[in-house]
Amino acid sequence: MLTNIFARKQNQILDELYKVSRIASAGSQARGIQKVIAYAAEELAKLGFENHFVKGDNANVPLLESTYKSNAKNPLKIALVAHADTVATLRWKRHIKINGDYIIGPGVADNKGGIITMLAALRKFLVARQSIPFEIRVIISSEEEIGSPSFQNYFQQIKKNLDFCFGFEPALGDGDIINQRNGNYWVEVIAKGIEAHCGRAKGEELNAFHDFSQKYQKLLKQVSPHNDLRLHLGSIQSNTSTFNIVCGLVRAKIDIRFSEIEDLNVFLPKLHRIFRADIAKNIFGESVQYDFEVHDFCPPMRNQNSTYDFVQTYLDTVERLEKRRPDIAASGGASDLCYLNTKNNVCLDGFGPIANGMHRQDESVYIPSLTTRSEAFCSLLNSLAQRMEASYGNSISC
Ligand SMILES: [Zn+2]
Repeated sequence: MLTNIFARKQNQILDELYKVSRIASAGSQARGIQKVIAYAAEELAKLGFENHFVKGDNANVPLLESTYKSNAKNPLKIALVAHADTVATLRWKRHIKINGDYIIGPGVADNKGGIITMLAALRKFLVARQSIPFEIRVIISSEEEIGSPSFQNYFQQIKKNLDFCFGFEPALGDGDIINQRNGNYWVEVIAKGIEAHCGRAKGEELNAFHDFSQKYQKLLKQVSPHNDLRLHLGSIQSNTSTFNIVCGLVRAKIDIRFSEIEDLNVFLPKLHRIFRADIAKNIFGESVQYDFEVHDFCPPMRNQNSTYDFVQTYLDTVERLEKRRPDIAASGGASDLCYLNTKNNVCLDGFGPIANGMHRQDESVYIPSLTTRSEAFCSLLNSLAQRMEASYGNSISC
């Protein structure tokens, strides 16, 4: 009997994921992204959420912010975060396939599986409740895959008021959830020297590569083995390809990874100082000039002083249903949670289903995990609610 109910529920969630996955919503497909967001907004409205659309600075499609208010005085604020855009494009609707225990196709996991898992968990959690002791804010970005650049100001504004952020990116390979993500900073360093004929130059030349390479060596020495900051040079280009011209321009792409924002804050002024210092001057007293173009800046996701005791219920439920207890682990990639993380809140990600082949045409979701993960997330919300109600002295209603 129980197995039948479980199977029926699994089929409903799968039907919903199949339907939403057949909407093509890669980064350039604004109409599809809009449709996925509209679907989520409609489903959330049915549950009693109030929808609000955030236009952002330059977005093609607004972000969805959908709030379920609480009657409690100063309620805890919880954000559930997902996104409607995908990396790979769905060319034909029939490219979404179900094969045994897997649903396969671009975006099924990242992040439509996350949206559907979240909706299923919220339906189950809210059906038994008149009111809730915390405020839930669902955030669905329209451009997460490019780092949500249009919503940086919005994230800055709201993050101070959030106590918990739960992300619905797919779980890690073994089904683990994520408590840490590294940050990255991509800067293109442009060195402008003065070209001249190598044989005929009389001191008016400024070799941009000589200057850059000496300074880069200095910069490498600033990377301390005592912290987690990593520095790499990804590519270097000049504007000429001959032997006999003094190199007049260098463009170098530098990738910096870090687990602590403080390490970056100490390192960046050193980088600017080193490159802007004069090393060589030509006969006119000129030196190589430097410009810096930042292509990406994503802060790390860290949780200070969290014991994660509030997610034990989630892990227990997954263990009971999947017969394996997930770990809480670090992930290399970034997500919107990186922008919502502060010293005072707790951000955990990977509450979506178990997935394979992220960002590929054959991305897949392990179908039973849609049910197990939404059940487990519902139990997490219940256990948080019970804790809050106990502390407010209210009765437990679920
Ligand atoms: Zn994603």
